[in-house]
Amino acid sequence: MKFLPSSFKNKTSIKKPVVIPSGKHTFERKFIEKGVIDILNRLKKNGYEAYLVGGCIRDILLGMKPKDFDIVTGAHPRQIKRLFSRCFLIGKRFRLAHVYISHDRFVEVATFRAASSEIKLPDGRVIQNNNIYGTIEEDVLRRDFTANSLYYNLSDSSIIDYTGGFKDIKKRVLRTIGDPSVRFEEDPVRIIRAARFCARFNFKISGSDYRAAKDKAHLIVQSNANRLLDELFKILKCGASARSFEYLDEFGVLSHWIPEILPLNKKSMLLQRLTQLDTARLDDVDFSNALLLTILFYDVFDNGISRDIKNPHDVFLAARDIFAPIATRMRIPKKDCDRICNILSRRIYFLDNLNKKYTPSFERRFTANEHFAEALKFYSLLAKVDANFSQGAFYWQKAKDSHDSKISYPSTRGKRTVNKKKKTKGKLTSPKTGDVQ
Ligand code: ATP
Ligand code: MG
Repeated sequence: MKFLPSSFKNKTSIKKPVVIPSGKHTFERKFIEKGVIDILNRLKKNGYEAYLVGGCIRDILLGMKPKDFDIVTGAHPRQIKRLFSRCFLIGKRFRLAHVYISHDRFVEVATFRAASSEIKLPDGRVIQNNNIYGTIEEDVLRRDFTANSLYYNLSDSSIIDYTGGFKDIKKRVLRTIGDPSVRFEEDPVRIIRAARFCARFNFKISGSDYRAAKDKAHLIVQSNANRLLDELFKILKCGASARSFEYLDEFGVLSHWIPEILPLNKKSMLLQRLTQLDTARLDDVDFSNALLLTILFYDVFDNGISRDIKNPHDVFLAARDIFAPIATRMRIPKKDCDRICNILSRRIYFLDNLNKKYTPSFERRFTANEHFAEALKFYSLLAKVDANFSQGAFYWQKAKDSHDSKISYPSTRGKRTVNKKKKTKGKLTSPKTGDVQ
Protein backbone atom coordinates (compact mmCIF):
# COMPACT_ATOMS: atom_id res chain seq x y z
CA MET A 1 0.00 0.00 0.00
CA LYS A 2 1.45 3.32 -1.07
CA PHE A 3 0.53 6.51 0.65
CA LEU A 4 2.17 9.83 1.20
CA PRO A 5 3.29 11.35 4.48
CA SER A 6 1.10 13.95 6.12
CA SER A 7 3.36 16.76 4.93
CA PHE A 8 1.39 16.43 1.69
CA LYS A 9 -1.75 17.36 3.57
CA ASN A 10 -4.28 19.10 1.41
CA LYS A 11 -3.90 22.84 1.53
CA THR A 12 -6.43 23.50 -1.20
CA SER A 13 -8.23 26.80 -0.99
CA ILE A 14 -10.23 28.30 -3.79
CA LYS A 15 -8.62 31.56 -4.74
CA LYS A 16 -7.29 32.33 -8.15
CA PRO A 17 -6.86 29.37 -10.48
CA VAL A 18 -3.59 28.42 -12.08
CA VAL A 19 -4.01 28.55 -15.86
CA ILE A 20 -1.81 26.11 -17.74
CA PRO A 21 -1.50 27.48 -21.27
CA SER A 22 -1.58 25.42 -24.44
CA GLY A 23 1.83 23.90 -25.09
CA LYS A 24 2.56 23.44 -21.38
CA HIS A 25 0.32 20.40 -21.14
CA THR A 26 -0.45 17.39 -23.32
CA PHE A 27 -4.21 17.86 -23.76
CA GLU A 28 -4.64 18.72 -27.42
CA ARG A 29 -7.73 19.76 -29.31
CA LYS A 30 -7.25 16.86 -31.73
CA PHE A 31 -8.17 14.41 -28.94
CA ILE A 32 -11.68 15.84 -28.69
CA GLU A 33 -14.48 14.45 -30.83
CA LYS A 34 -16.00 16.84 -33.34
CA GLY A 35 -19.49 16.50 -31.85
CA VAL A 36 -18.13 17.58 -28.45
CA ILE A 37 -16.34 20.59 -29.97
CA ASP A 38 -19.59 21.60 -31.69
CA ILE A 39 -21.47 21.59 -28.37
CA LEU A 40 -18.80 23.68 -26.65
CA ASN A 41 -18.76 26.16 -29.54
CA ARG A 42 -22.52 26.55 -29.64
CA LEU A 43 -22.73 27.18 -25.89
CA LYS A 44 -19.97 29.79 -26.16
CA LYS A 45 -21.49 31.50 -29.20
CA ASN A 46 -24.66 31.92 -27.21
CA GLY A 47 -22.83 33.66 -24.43
CA TYR A 48 -22.42 30.82 -21.94
CA GLU A 49 -19.23 29.68 -20.25
CA ALA A 50 -18.49 26.07 -21.22
CA TYR A 51 -15.61 23.70 -20.43
CA LEU A 52 -14.63 20.09 -20.61
CA VAL A 53 -14.22 18.76 -17.10
CA GLY A 54 -13.17 15.83 -14.96
CA GLY A 55 -12.18 12.34 -16.05
CA CYS A 56 -11.53 13.10 -19.72
CA ILE A 57 -8.81 15.65 -18.91
CA ARG A 58 -7.24 13.42 -16.27
CA ASP A 59 -7.19 10.44 -18.64
CA ILE A 60 -5.61 12.34 -21.55
CA LEU A 61 -2.97 13.92 -19.29
CA LEU A 62 -2.15 10.38 -18.18
CA GLY A 63 -1.84 9.24 -21.80
CA MET A 64 -5.02 7.18 -21.72
CA LYS A 65 -8.09 7.21 -23.93
CA PRO A 66 -11.03 8.78 -22.07
CA LYS A 67 -14.28 6.81 -21.78
CA ASP A 68 -16.33 9.91 -22.50
CA PHE A 69 -16.26 13.70 -22.48
CA ASP A 70 -18.22 15.66 -19.88
CA ILE A 71 -19.12 19.31 -20.37
CA VAL A 72 -19.92 21.83 -17.68
CA THR A 73 -21.51 25.19 -18.41
CA GLY A 74 -23.06 28.33 -16.99
CA ALA A 75 -26.22 27.68 -19.02
CA HIS A 76 -29.19 26.29 -17.10
CA PRO A 77 -30.79 23.02 -18.31
CA ARG A 78 -33.71 24.73 -20.07
CA GLN A 79 -31.27 27.09 -21.80
CA ILE A 80 -29.17 24.12 -22.94
CA LYS A 81 -32.26 22.36 -24.27
CA ARG A 82 -33.24 25.40 -26.32
CA LEU A 83 -29.87 25.31 -28.13
CA PHE A 84 -29.85 21.66 -29.21
CA SER A 85 -32.54 19.84 -31.14
CA ARG A 86 -31.55 16.40 -29.87
CA CYS A 87 -31.29 17.12 -26.17
CA PHE A 88 -33.03 15.43 -23.23
CA LEU A 89 -33.08 16.56 -19.63
CA ILE A 90 -32.66 13.84 -17.05
CA GLY A 91 -32.56 13.67 -13.23
CA LYS A 92 -35.23 14.72 -10.80
CA ARG A 93 -33.39 16.93 -8.38
CA PHE A 94 -30.31 18.08 -10.26
CA ARG A 95 -31.16 18.16 -13.94
CA LEU A 96 -28.55 17.20 -16.51
CA ALA A 97 -28.72 17.53 -20.27
CA HIS A 98 -27.91 14.67 -22.61
CA VAL A 99 -27.03 16.15 -25.99
CA TYR A 100 -26.90 13.55 -28.76
CA ILE A 101 -23.93 13.66 -31.13
CA SER A 102 -25.00 10.58 -33.11
CA HIS A 103 -28.08 8.37 -33.10
CA ASP A 104 -26.93 6.40 -30.04
CA ARG A 105 -24.28 8.54 -28.36
CA PHE A 106 -24.73 11.56 -26.18
CA VAL A 107 -22.55 13.98 -24.22
CA GLU A 108 -23.50 14.89 -20.68
CA VAL A 109 -23.79 18.65 -20.25
CA ALA A 110 -24.14 19.79 -16.63
CA THR A 111 -24.74 23.23 -15.20
CA PHE A 112 -22.19 24.53 -12.68
CA ARG A 113 -23.32 23.38 -9.26
CA ALA A 114 -22.97 25.14 -5.92
CA ALA A 115 -22.44 23.44 -2.56
CA SER A 116 -25.51 21.68 -1.19
CA SER A 117 -27.49 23.37 1.53
CA GLU A 118 -29.73 21.90 4.22
CA ILE A 119 -33.48 22.26 3.98
CA LYS A 120 -35.66 21.84 7.08
CA LEU A 121 -38.91 20.03 6.34
CA PRO A 122 -42.12 20.89 8.27
CA ASP A 123 -41.86 17.53 10.10
CA GLY A 124 -38.43 18.51 11.46
CA ARG A 125 -36.38 16.32 9.12
CA VAL A 126 -33.37 17.87 7.42
CA ILE A 127 -32.55 17.02 3.80
CA GLN A 128 -29.74 18.12 1.51
CA ASN A 129 -30.64 20.40 -1.34
CA ASN A 130 -28.17 19.44 -4.08
CA ASN A 131 -30.01 21.33 -6.71
CA ILE A 132 -28.39 24.74 -6.65
CA TYR A 133 -26.76 26.19 -9.72
CA GLY A 134 -23.52 28.04 -9.16
CA THR A 135 -20.29 29.36 -10.63
CA ILE A 136 -17.16 27.53 -11.75
CA GLU A 137 -15.54 28.41 -8.39
CA GLU A 138 -18.39 26.73 -6.56
CA ASP A 139 -18.55 23.82 -8.99
CA VAL A 140 -14.93 22.88 -8.40
CA LEU A 141 -15.44 22.60 -4.64
CA ARG A 142 -18.13 19.96 -5.09
CA ARG A 143 -15.85 17.63 -7.02
CA ASP A 144 -14.21 14.69 -5.29
CA PHE A 145 -10.46 14.63 -6.05
CA THR A 146 -8.02 17.26 -7.31
CA ALA A 147 -7.19 15.02 -10.29
CA ASN A 148 -10.87 15.13 -11.30
CA SER A 149 -11.27 18.88 -11.03
CA LEU A 150 -9.49 20.31 -14.08
CA TYR A 151 -11.37 22.37 -16.68
CA TYR A 152 -10.32 22.65 -20.32
CA ASN A 153 -11.04 25.89 -22.15
CA LEU A 154 -11.45 25.26 -25.85
CA SER A 155 -11.07 28.95 -26.78
CA ASP A 156 -7.37 29.06 -25.91
CA SER A 157 -6.69 25.36 -25.20
CA SER A 158 -5.69 26.13 -21.62
CA ILE A 159 -6.35 24.04 -18.54
CA ILE A 160 -7.83 25.81 -15.54
CA ASP A 161 -6.70 24.40 -12.22
CA TYR A 162 -8.22 25.58 -8.93
CA THR A 163 -6.98 22.76 -6.71
CA GLY A 164 -3.46 21.73 -7.69
CA GLY A 165 -4.85 18.80 -9.67
CA PHE A 166 -2.41 19.30 -12.54
CA LYS A 167 0.60 18.81 -10.28
CA ASP A 168 -1.09 15.93 -8.46
CA ILE A 169 -1.68 14.12 -11.75
CA LYS A 170 1.96 14.61 -12.69
CA LYS A 171 3.05 13.25 -9.31
CA ARG A 172 0.34 10.58 -9.42
CA VAL A 173 -1.12 11.61 -6.10
CA LEU A 174 -4.78 11.21 -5.23
CA ARG A 175 -6.19 13.71 -2.74
CA THR A 176 -9.65 14.96 -1.95
CA ILE A 177 -10.61 18.58 -2.45
CA GLY A 178 -10.91 19.96 1.06
CA ASP A 179 -10.75 18.02 4.34
CA PRO A 180 -10.81 14.29 3.48
CA SER A 181 -12.68 13.38 6.68
CA VAL A 182 -15.46 15.77 5.80
CA ARG A 183 -15.55 14.76 2.14
CA PHE A 184 -15.63 11.01 2.90
CA GLU A 185 -18.25 11.48 5.59
CA GLU A 186 -20.35 13.60 3.22
CA ASP A 187 -20.23 10.83 0.61
CA PRO A 188 -18.54 7.54 1.58
CA VAL A 189 -18.78 6.31 -2.03
CA ARG A 190 -15.76 8.55 -2.61
CA ILE A 191 -13.66 6.06 -0.61
CA ILE A 192 -14.55 3.37 -3.15
CA ARG A 193 -13.76 5.76 -5.99
CA ALA A 194 -10.40 6.49 -4.35
CA ALA A 195 -9.55 2.78 -4.37
CA ARG A 196 -10.44 2.50 -8.06
CA PHE A 197 -8.50 5.59 -9.11
CA CYS A 198 -5.39 4.56 -7.12
CA ALA A 199 -5.49 1.08 -8.65
CA ARG A 200 -6.29 2.14 -12.19
CA PHE A 201 -3.82 5.00 -12.47
CA ASN A 202 -1.20 3.71 -10.07
CA PHE A 203 -1.70 6.78 -7.86
CA LYS A 204 -0.54 7.08 -4.27
CA ILE A 205 -3.19 8.23 -1.86
CA SER A 206 -2.23 11.20 0.30
CA GLY A 207 -1.51 10.38 3.95
CA SER A 208 -4.46 12.32 5.33
CA ASP A 209 -6.82 10.82 2.75
CA TYR A 210 -5.59 7.35 3.65
CA ARG A 211 -6.25 7.87 7.35
CA ALA A 212 -9.64 9.45 6.68
CA ALA A 213 -10.63 6.59 4.34
CA LYS A 214 -9.85 4.06 7.09
CA ASP A 215 -11.61 6.16 9.67
CA LYS A 216 -14.81 6.59 7.64
CA ALA A 217 -14.93 3.19 5.91
CA HIS A 218 -17.75 1.95 8.17
CA LEU A 219 -20.05 4.69 6.82
CA ILE A 220 -20.27 2.89 3.50
CA VAL A 221 -23.33 0.99 4.77
CA GLN A 222 -25.26 4.27 4.72
CA SER A 223 -24.71 4.83 1.00
CA ASN A 224 -27.38 4.19 -1.58
CA ALA A 225 -27.25 0.55 -2.70
CA ASN A 226 -27.75 1.38 -6.39
CA ARG A 227 -24.83 3.79 -6.39
CA LEU A 228 -22.70 1.16 -4.66
CA LEU A 229 -23.65 -1.44 -7.26
CA ASP A 230 -22.73 1.00 -10.06
CA GLU A 231 -19.34 1.54 -8.44
CA LEU A 232 -18.88 -2.22 -8.08
CA PHE A 233 -19.39 -2.73 -11.82
CA LYS A 234 -17.06 0.18 -12.59
CA ILE A 235 -14.37 -1.53 -10.51
CA LEU A 236 -14.92 -4.91 -12.12
CA LYS A 237 -14.67 -3.37 -15.59
CA CYS A 238 -11.78 -0.97 -14.99
CA GLY A 239 -8.94 -3.37 -15.80
CA ALA A 240 -7.45 -3.02 -12.29
CA SER A 241 -10.08 -4.77 -10.20
CA ALA A 242 -7.64 -6.97 -8.27
CA ARG A 243 -5.66 -3.92 -7.07
CA SER A 244 -8.89 -2.01 -6.38
CA PHE A 245 -10.11 -4.75 -4.05
CA GLU A 246 -6.77 -4.80 -2.29
CA TYR A 247 -7.12 -1.07 -1.66
CA LEU A 248 -10.71 -1.48 -0.53
CA ASP A 249 -9.63 -4.15 1.91
CA GLU A 250 -6.75 -2.00 3.15
CA PHE A 251 -9.15 0.92 3.72
CA GLY A 252 -11.42 -1.42 5.68
CA VAL A 253 -14.37 -0.92 3.32
CA LEU A 254 -14.87 -4.55 2.28
CA SER A 255 -15.72 -5.85 5.73
CA HIS A 256 -18.68 -3.44 5.76
CA TRP A 257 -19.61 -3.56 2.09
CA ILE A 258 -19.02 -7.14 0.83
CA PRO A 259 -17.83 -9.20 3.82
CA GLU A 260 -18.71 -12.44 1.96
CA ILE A 261 -15.57 -12.21 -0.20
CA LEU A 262 -13.15 -11.93 2.72
CA PRO A 263 -10.47 -12.83 3.66
CA LEU A 264 -8.44 -11.46 0.80
CA ASN A 265 -4.78 -12.29 0.54
CA LYS A 266 -2.23 -12.46 -2.24
CA LYS A 267 -2.92 -16.15 -2.81
CA SER A 268 -6.68 -15.95 -2.65
CA MET A 269 -8.54 -17.46 -5.58
CA LEU A 270 -10.63 -14.32 -5.91
CA LEU A 271 -7.58 -12.14 -6.58
CA GLN A 272 -6.36 -14.69 -9.10
CA ARG A 273 -9.70 -14.65 -10.93
CA LEU A 274 -9.79 -10.86 -10.85
CA THR A 275 -6.28 -10.73 -12.29
CA GLN A 276 -7.49 -12.91 -15.18
CA LEU A 277 -10.50 -10.65 -15.59
CA ASP A 278 -8.26 -7.55 -15.67
CA THR A 279 -6.08 -9.09 -18.37
CA ALA A 280 -9.16 -9.81 -20.48
CA ARG A 281 -10.61 -6.33 -19.86
CA LEU A 282 -7.37 -4.68 -20.97
CA ASP A 283 -7.86 -6.58 -24.24
CA ASP A 284 -11.39 -5.09 -24.39
CA VAL A 285 -13.18 -8.40 -23.82
CA ASP A 286 -16.75 -7.69 -22.77
CA PHE A 287 -18.28 -9.26 -19.64
CA SER A 288 -21.95 -9.12 -18.69
CA ASN A 289 -22.85 -7.97 -15.19
CA ALA A 290 -23.97 -11.52 -14.34
CA LEU A 291 -20.59 -12.88 -15.38
CA LEU A 292 -18.74 -10.24 -13.38
CA LEU A 293 -20.72 -11.10 -10.26
CA THR A 294 -20.12 -14.82 -10.79
CA ILE A 295 -16.39 -14.13 -10.92
CA LEU A 296 -16.63 -12.08 -7.73
CA PHE A 297 -18.80 -14.44 -5.68
CA TYR A 298 -17.70 -17.82 -6.98
CA ASP A 299 -15.98 -18.88 -3.73
CA VAL A 300 -19.14 -18.23 -1.75
CA PHE A 301 -20.93 -20.79 -3.93
CA ASP A 302 -18.06 -23.19 -4.20
CA ASN A 303 -17.72 -23.33 -0.43
CA GLY A 304 -21.46 -23.59 0.03
CA ILE A 305 -22.38 -26.20 -2.59
CA SER A 306 -20.64 -29.54 -2.57
CA ARG A 307 -19.04 -30.53 -5.86
CA ASP A 308 -20.63 -33.95 -5.30
CA ILE A 309 -24.08 -32.60 -6.14
CA LYS A 310 -24.55 -33.90 -9.64
CA ASN A 311 -28.02 -32.61 -10.48
CA PRO A 312 -27.74 -29.16 -12.11
CA HIS A 313 -31.21 -28.19 -10.96
CA ASP A 314 -30.27 -28.90 -7.31
CA VAL A 315 -27.16 -26.74 -7.77
CA PHE A 316 -29.32 -23.99 -9.26
CA LEU A 317 -31.65 -24.02 -6.25
CA ALA A 318 -28.80 -24.17 -3.72
CA ALA A 319 -27.04 -21.28 -5.49
CA ARG A 320 -30.23 -19.25 -5.43
CA ASP A 321 -30.60 -19.78 -1.67
CA ILE A 322 -27.00 -18.82 -1.00
CA PHE A 323 -27.16 -15.73 -3.20
CA ALA A 324 -30.58 -14.44 -2.07
CA PRO A 325 -29.42 -12.38 0.96
CA ILE A 326 -26.47 -10.91 -0.97
CA ALA A 327 -28.71 -10.00 -3.91
CA THR A 328 -31.30 -8.40 -1.66
CA ARG A 329 -28.75 -6.32 0.23
CA MET A 330 -26.90 -5.22 -2.90
CA ARG A 331 -30.05 -4.75 -5.03
CA ILE A 332 -28.81 -7.07 -7.75
CA PRO A 333 -31.57 -7.43 -10.37
CA LYS A 334 -33.41 -10.77 -10.39
CA LYS A 335 -32.57 -11.29 -14.06
CA ASP A 336 -28.84 -11.22 -13.19
CA CYS A 337 -29.36 -13.55 -10.20
CA ASP A 338 -31.00 -16.11 -12.49
CA ARG A 339 -28.17 -15.86 -14.98
CA ILE A 340 -25.57 -16.32 -12.23
CA CYS A 341 -27.36 -19.42 -10.92
CA ASN A 342 -27.61 -20.78 -14.46
CA ILE A 343 -23.86 -20.40 -14.93
CA LEU A 344 -23.20 -22.12 -11.59
CA SER A 345 -25.64 -24.95 -12.23
CA ARG A 346 -23.44 -25.99 -15.19
CA ARG A 347 -20.40 -26.53 -12.96
CA ILE A 348 -20.66 -30.32 -13.02
CA TYR A 349 -20.25 -30.39 -16.83
CA PHE A 350 -17.04 -28.40 -16.69
CA LEU A 351 -15.41 -30.36 -13.87
CA ASP A 352 -12.81 -32.99 -14.73
CA ASN A 353 -14.10 -33.98 -18.14
CA LEU A 354 -11.10 -36.09 -18.90
CA ASN A 355 -13.01 -39.36 -19.14
CA LYS A 356 -16.42 -38.06 -20.05
CA LYS A 357 -17.90 -38.09 -23.48
CA TYR A 358 -21.35 -36.69 -24.05
CA THR A 359 -23.61 -37.77 -26.90
CA PRO A 360 -23.66 -35.51 -29.95
CA SER A 361 -27.31 -34.68 -29.34
CA PHE A 362 -26.61 -33.67 -25.71
CA GLU A 363 -23.63 -31.61 -26.86
CA ARG A 364 -25.77 -29.89 -29.44
CA ARG A 365 -28.50 -28.99 -26.95
CA PHE A 366 -26.03 -28.01 -24.23
CA THR A 367 -23.99 -25.71 -26.46
CA ALA A 368 -27.10 -24.18 -28.06
CA ASN A 369 -28.64 -23.22 -24.73
CA GLU A 370 -28.85 -19.49 -24.10
CA HIS A 371 -26.68 -19.73 -20.95
CA PHE A 372 -23.92 -21.79 -22.51
CA ALA A 373 -21.83 -18.91 -23.90
CA GLU A 374 -21.65 -17.20 -20.51
CA ALA A 375 -20.92 -20.49 -18.75
CA LEU A 376 -18.10 -21.29 -21.18
CA LYS A 377 -16.61 -17.84 -20.72
CA PHE A 378 -16.74 -18.17 -16.95
CA TYR A 379 -15.31 -21.70 -16.69
CA SER A 380 -12.62 -20.88 -19.26
CA LEU A 381 -11.52 -18.01 -17.01
CA LEU A 382 -11.80 -20.23 -13.94
CA ALA A 383 -9.70 -22.91 -15.66
CA LYS A 384 -6.79 -20.45 -15.73
CA VAL A 385 -6.65 -20.47 -11.93
CA ASP A 386 -8.16 -23.87 -11.10
CA ALA A 387 -6.80 -26.79 -13.14
CA ASN A 388 -9.86 -28.90 -12.27
CA PHE A 389 -11.74 -27.00 -14.93
CA SER A 390 -9.14 -27.09 -17.71
CA GLN A 391 -10.32 -30.26 -19.40
CA GLY A 392 -13.96 -29.27 -19.17
CA ALA A 393 -13.40 -25.82 -20.62
CA PHE A 394 -11.34 -27.34 -23.43
CA TYR A 395 -13.93 -30.04 -24.12
CA TRP A 396 -16.86 -27.61 -24.37
CA GLN A 397 -14.95 -25.08 -26.44
CA LYS A 398 -14.21 -27.85 -28.91
CA ALA A 399 -17.81 -29.06 -28.85
CA LYS A 400 -19.03 -25.52 -29.46
CA ASP A 401 -16.63 -24.97 -32.36
CA SER A 402 -17.66 -28.24 -33.92
CA HIS A 403 -21.41 -27.57 -33.53
CA ASP A 404 -21.04 -23.96 -34.67
CA SER A 405 -19.52 -25.15 -37.90
CA LYS A 406 -22.57 -27.37 -38.53
CA ILE A 407 -25.15 -24.64 -38.06
CA SER A 408 -26.63 -23.32 -41.27
CA TYR A 409 -27.92 -19.79 -41.44
CA PRO A 410 -30.40 -18.37 -43.91
CA SER A 411 -28.68 -16.18 -46.49
CA THR A 412 -29.70 -12.54 -46.82
CA ARG A 413 -31.77 -13.44 -49.92
CA GLY A 414 -33.78 -15.91 -47.90
CA LYS A 415 -32.07 -18.94 -49.42
CA ARG A 416 -30.53 -21.54 -47.16
CA THR A 417 -26.79 -21.97 -47.08
CA VAL A 418 -25.56 -25.50 -47.35
CA ASN A 419 -24.32 -27.17 -44.18
CA LYS A 420 -20.56 -27.19 -44.24
CA LYS A 421 -20.24 -30.80 -43.17
CA LYS A 422 -23.56 -32.48 -43.81
CA LYS A 423 -26.81 -31.52 -45.46
CA THR A 424 -29.77 -31.12 -43.08
CA LYS A 425 -32.44 -32.43 -45.44
CA GLY A 426 -33.94 -28.98 -45.90
CA LYS A 427 -34.31 -28.19 -42.19
CA LEU A 428 -32.75 -25.17 -40.57
CA THR A 429 -31.27 -25.32 -37.10
CA SER A 430 -31.57 -22.24 -34.95
CA PRO A 431 -28.18 -21.08 -33.68
CA LYS A 432 -29.78 -19.93 -30.43
CA THR A 433 -31.80 -22.85 -29.20
CA GLY A 434 -30.45 -25.65 -31.30
CA ASP A 435 -34.07 -26.72 -31.87
CA VAL A 436 -34.98 -27.93 -35.31
CA GLN A 437 -37.39 -25.43 -36.89
P1 ATP B 1 -14.54 7.45 -14.83
O1 ATP B 1 -15.69 7.89 -15.72
O2 ATP B 1 -13.34 6.99 -15.54
O3 ATP B 1 -15.00 6.56 -13.78
P2 ATP B 1 -14.72 10.13 -13.89
O4 ATP B 1 -13.79 10.97 -13.06
O5 ATP B 1 -15.14 10.67 -15.22
O6 ATP B 1 -14.04 8.74 -14.03
P3 ATP B 1 -17.51 10.04 -13.24
O7 ATP B 1 -18.21 9.14 -12.28
O8 ATP B 1 -17.83 9.93 -14.68
O9 ATP B 1 -15.97 9.83 -12.99
O10 ATP B 1 -17.77 11.53 -12.73
C1 ATP B 1 -17.44 12.69 -13.49
C2 ATP B 1 -16.90 13.76 -12.57
O11 ATP B 1 -17.88 14.10 -11.58
C3 ATP B 1 -15.66 13.35 -11.78
O12 ATP B 1 -14.49 13.55 -12.53
C4 ATP B 1 -15.74 14.24 -10.57
O13 ATP B 1 -15.26 15.54 -10.84
C5 ATP B 1 -17.25 14.34 -10.32
N1 ATP B 1 -17.75 13.32 -9.36
C6 ATP B 1 -18.17 12.06 -9.63
N2 ATP B 1 -18.56 11.43 -8.52
C7 ATP B 1 -18.39 12.30 -7.51
C8 ATP B 1 -18.63 12.26 -6.10
N3 ATP B 1 -19.11 11.15 -5.51
N4 ATP B 1 -18.34 13.37 -5.37
C9 ATP B 1 -17.88 14.49 -5.97
N5 ATP B 1 -17.62 14.60 -7.27
C10 ATP B 1 -17.88 13.52 -8.05
MG1 MG C 1 -16.64 9.76 -16.52
